[in-house]
Amino acid sequence: MADFTMEKGADGVAVITWNLPDKSMNVLRQQGGEELGALVDDALADDAVKGIVITSAKDSFAGGADLNMLARIRDDAGDDPAPALFDFLMNIHHMLRRIERAGMDDKNKGGKPVACALPGTSAGIGTEIALACHRRFIADNPKAKVGLPEILVGLFPGSGGTTRYSRMVGAMAAAPVLLEGKMLDPKAAKSAQLVDEIVPADELLARAKEWVLNATDADIVKPWDQKGWKMPGGAPYHPAGFMTFVGASAMINGKTKGVYPAAKALLSAVYEGALVPFDTALKIEARWFVSVLMDPSSSAMIRSLFINKEALEKGANRPAVEDQKVKRVGILGAGMMGAGIAYVSANAGIEVVLIDAAQDAADRGKAHSEGILDKGMKRGKVTAEKKEQVLGRITATTDYAALDGCDLVVEAVFEDPKVKAEVTAKAEAAIPSTAIFATNTSTLPITSLAKASSRPDQFIGIHFFSPVDKMALVEIIKGKETGDVAVAKALDFVRQIRKTPIVVNDARFFYANRCIIPYINEGVRMVAEGVEPALIENAAKLLGFPLGPLQLVDETSIDLGVKIAKATKAAMGDAYPDDAVDAVLFRLADEGRLGRKSAAGFYAYDDKGKREGMWPGLGDLYPVAADQPDLAEVQHRLMFAQVLEAVRALEEGVLTDIREGDVGAILGWGFAPWSGGPFSWLDIVGAPWAVERCETLAAAHGARFAPPALLRELAEAGDSFYGRFGPEARAAA
Ligand code: NAD
Repeated sequence: MADFTMEKGADGVAVITWNLPDKSMNVLRQQGGEELGALVDDALADDAVKGIVITSAKDSFAGGADLNMLARIRDDAGDDPAPALFDFLMNIHHMLRRIERAGMDDKNKGGKPVACALPGTSAGIGTEIALACHRRFIADNPKAKVGLPEILVGLFPGSGGTTRYSRMVGAMAAAPVLLEGKMLDPKAAKSAQLVDEIVPADELLARAKEWVLNATDADIVKPWDQKGWKMPGGAPYHPAGFMTFVGASAMINGKTKGVYPAAKALLSAVYEGALVPFDTALKIEARWFVSVLMDPSSSAMIRSLFINKEALEKGANRPAVEDQKVKRVGILGAGMMGAGIAYVSANAGIEVVLIDAAQDAADRGKAHSEGILDKGMKRGKVTAEKKEQVLGRITATTDYAALDGCDLVVEAVFEDPKVKAEVTAKAEAAIPSTAIFATNTSTLPITSLAKASSRPDQFIGIHFFSPVDKMALVEIIKGKETGDVAVAKALDFVRQIRKTPIVVNDARFFYANRCIIPYINEGVRMVAEGVEPALIENAAKLLGFPLGPLQLVDETSIDLGVKIAKATKAAMGDAYPDDAVDAVLFRLADEGRLGRKSAAGFYAYDDKGKREGMWPGLGDLYPVAADQPDLAEVQHRLMFAQVLEAVRALEEGVLTDIREGDVGAILGWGFAPWSGGPFSWLDIVGAPWAVERCETLAAAHGARFAPPALLRELAEAGDSFYGRFGPEARAAA
């Protein structure tokens, strides 16, 4: 079955409809591109056709390009894939250019009007097709979003979107759409000129046809195809344009720290394209796009942030048991985490019973949802009706009997095994025997907490990250006795609340915290050694980490660090390796510097609690050494501290799927997204280099950098993590 079909009406309008068989949303596949081109050529050549409307039979227009297609073209092209990718892109450019020129002659006469009718959301190449058309209509669909979000997966709009849109609105105005990948609702899309008209859904096709039948020659000539066209806001050598590009370059480098190849390539395509005629600009765009596709960072980002993230969300590792959708969830503890979990659950349509020890605490927990909804209303994202519905689903109470009928309980009381055991028993007495009990503990082993349960096979860890409404990752932890139904329940719940799950086995700090703690510790350790704190923080930022290790511990609180350190030391005894780190943390905590919450930590804060620079007193406690390490040395310490922990988690079977290790790292603690995650990063730098580098680091800084056996083995075998443990290898095994 075809992806695109065409119907030529008696009114002279050819309607081309995009409708991928068996998919809920259209994506552009190789076959689809060829079909669309052939249909457009047919319509343009047919004298009976006066104009064309391109639309979709689904409630959205398109989700973008099939990203697997780009990977396939690259992989199929052998040793030198760049020319194949370039030819592929130029074919799309030619096809879209044929739509845009629509049979016009050199004098811009005689073309056929082409309108695009978007029933709903249009992203990526969907929007690029629309931009090539002469007029864009969108249905007044409250769910619709229009944009070019390619940058978010490490690409940029490479099917003419970059060149067309920057020429339509100017480089400055194009930035939110191209550089930030913002998806806009119809109204905002109209003011951003991504669409021209918002029309009632049932009039969409009629209005587009009407325009096509009434459009004049002048209506269908793009500005850049007219004589004397000038780039809005100025081309690079125009005084205003010059300022724009200097500013844009500074902004991009400031935001991306130079680690995202796509952002730089995008700006280069706009800058260089603005200096030449349109068709040459498209060629430049294609060349930059190929350079990004050939960069290992972009394929790693696409793999982790798109393909694997989606696979995990769709249940790649879900046990094959029947649907476990949650209808009524009980939440124990209405503090910071419990209140957040209550909000995301109620927002997803689940009935919530929110329990705390005192009624006012439970009420405060519910009020947290009200606060988020009120903010949403102020921004016009939430209606009064929606607010009422969501709040109506939350029952705040102290009465465990209200848990009756809950099919899932999520416990988020104090991090104290005794308190947790007590509420587990109380809840289990009230819930159905089939219900699943989950704990949101961040540090306590699931298997030992499960001892308080009368049905440990129905006991599991569901570990959220703070703030719950913003953080996309949920870590699901299997205890020794956790059964398949519990895992499926947790996965179905995470899917309902539209977050991304990873499933790991039970070991100290599970996966995410296990890797974050060494990152923080390495930063703190360097402070004690006299490394300039600003060097530590900037080294992390230049690796693409959102927060340096010292800012991160300020945010999560230094006393929490102290608490975790004490518990870890108690558990590990003499093997405990982090005394040097603790000396610093304990000292700051003793001085009442607990981080952001006390407006004093590694950083200084002003009266309003706003973070200023590094705390000047830090240099008195830990004088900065005269000899400072290279930036690369500091970066490698920070990087390997995390990735070696990820490798050990895999070796020990805490992680069972490297895709989860990569996706979890990016979503859980902002691990250098450009790298695709710890395992992708190791594959980019190569195991042999990593082993060599780790040996040097271990000799200089200690055994924590000693390469794990698995890394050595891969280096010796000339293998990679994805080569050995990726989905293809797993399927073959
Ligand atoms: P919190 O102190 O903000 O909230 C705990 C709540 O539990 C309080 O409202 C308290 O009144 C209530 N509570 C205590 N004993 C109770 C009992 N017997 N019955 C009913 N309610 C009781 O703590 P939090 O930050 O929300 O953390 C809760 C859990 O989530 C802990 O296990 C913590 O380790 C874990 N966690 C925290 C974070 C984080 O960033 N704060 C992240 C992930 C997991």
